[in-house]
Amino acid sequence: MSRPIYLDCHATTPVDPQVMAAMLPYFTEYFGNPSSINHQYGWEAEAAVKQAREIIANAINATPVEIIFTSGATEANNLAIKGVAEAYVEQGQHIITVATEHNAVIDPCKYLETLGFTVTYLPVGEDGIIDLKTLEAAFRDDTILVSVMAANNEIGVLQPLAAIGAMCRDRRILFHTDAAQAIGKIPLDVEGMHIDLMSLTAHKVYGPKGIGALYVRRRQPRVAIAPQLHGGGHERGMRSGTLYTPQIVGFGKAVEMALSLQEEENQRLTSLRQQLWQRLSSLSGIYLNGHPTQRLPGNLNISIEGVDGAALLLGLQSTVALSSGSACSSTSTAPSHVLTALGRSESLAYASLRFGIGRFNTSEEIDLVAETVISVVESLRSSILSSRISR
Ligand SMILES: *Cc1c(COP(=O)(O)O)cnc(C)c1O
Repeated sequence: MSRPIYLDCHATTPVDPQVMAAMLPYFTEYFGNPSSINHQYGWEAEAAVKQAREIIANAINATPVEIIFTSGATEANNLAIKGVAEAYVEQGQHIITVATEHNAVIDPCKYLETLGFTVTYLPVGEDGIIDLKTLEAAFRDDTILVSVMAANNEIGVLQPLAAIGAMCRDRRILFHTDAAQAIGKIPLDVEGMHIDLMSLTAHKVYGPKGIGALYVRRRQPRVAIAPQLHGGGHERGMRSGTLYTPQIVGFGKAVEMALSLQEEENQRLTSLRQQLWQRLSSLSGIYLNGHPTQRLPGNLNISIEGVDGAALLLGLQSTVALSSGSACSSTSTAPSHVLTALGRSESLAYASLRFGIGRFNTSEEIDLVAETVISVVESLRSSILSSRISR
C-alpha cells in the first residue's frame, strides 16, 4: 500500500540522505566524547562539533562560542526565557511576547507568571503580524525581555525582526526570537537584526530530531542566562550534558545544505504554494490564513467554510498527511490559538488545513492533493445539503 503524500513539513521533515551519511561515522567509528581532551577519540569528536558549531554560527552571523547546543527549540526557548528571567530578576519582572507564539514560548511565560512575573501577550493583526506601535506601547521600565518568533509554525508568517530588534536595543531590553521554522529558509542575522538570543532546531530543516541550539550574545551586550540543567559545565556552563556528536554533525550538515539550496528551493516552494492556492481558490468559501506574501515559501494555511474540520481531515488522510488548526498540539481538540488570534471564528479555525510543502514534494503531488481537497470538500458540502433537504 502506498503511503499518503507528506505535506506536514512544519511538524517535521525527513533527514536528508546526505545529512544521514554525514552522521553515520559518528555513531560507531568516531564515537569519542568531545570533552575527552586527553586522546584522539575525543579530539576527533571535538573537531566535528567545532565544524558544525562554525556552520551554525555563520548561518546567523554569530560567533561559534555563542552557540549553545540543546535538545531542540523547546529546550532552547525554555533556557532563553527562564534563564533570562532568573538572571535579570533584580532588573525587572516584565516580559513581552505574542499571542501566536509556539507553546514552547507561551508555556514557559505562563510558568513565570506563577512565580510573580508579568507577561504581555501582544495581539496580531488579521494578517498575523504584530503592530510595532502596540509593541512600543507595551514597553515598561521593568521590561527585561521581548520574545517574538521569526516564522510562525502554523501560518508561516514572518515577523519584522530587524525593526523589533532596533526598538529593543534602543531601550536596552533583551530580544529573543524562536527561529525554529526560519533557520535555513529566510536570512537571519543576529547583528543586523539586533537579536540577543535565538532558538534553533535541526528537524524542521532536514536534520535529525533531538538537536537544536540557543544563540546567546556574548558582546554588546554580554547576555547572562541562568542554566536550567546543572552538571559538568558544558557549553560555557549554560547547558550541561555530554554533547550528542552525531546529531550535532547532522545539524551542521543540514544547515549547510539548506543555505546552499535556499534561493533555488524558496523559488520552487513559492511556485508550488501558488499552484496549490490557485487550484484551491476554485472552491467557494475558502480563506487564506496569514499574510499572503510575508510568509515561509512552503506554507499555505486555509480555512474552509461549511465543512466539519474533523470530517475533512478524515476524508483526506489516505491521500495526504497534513495537519489542521485543531491538531497542532497533538492531543488538544481546542481550536488553534493562532487562528483565533487572527480573528477567525471558532468554526473557521476548526475547518482549517496547514500545508507544509518541502524539499521532496513535486508539482504532480500538489495537483493530486488539490484535486482531492476539492472533491472531499464538495462531497462534504453536498452531504450536508442533502441531509438538510431530507429533514
Ligand atoms: C517545532 C517548533 C518548536 C519545537 O522545536 P523542537 O526542536 O521540536 O523542540 C518550537 N518553536 C517553533 C516555532 C517550532 O516550529
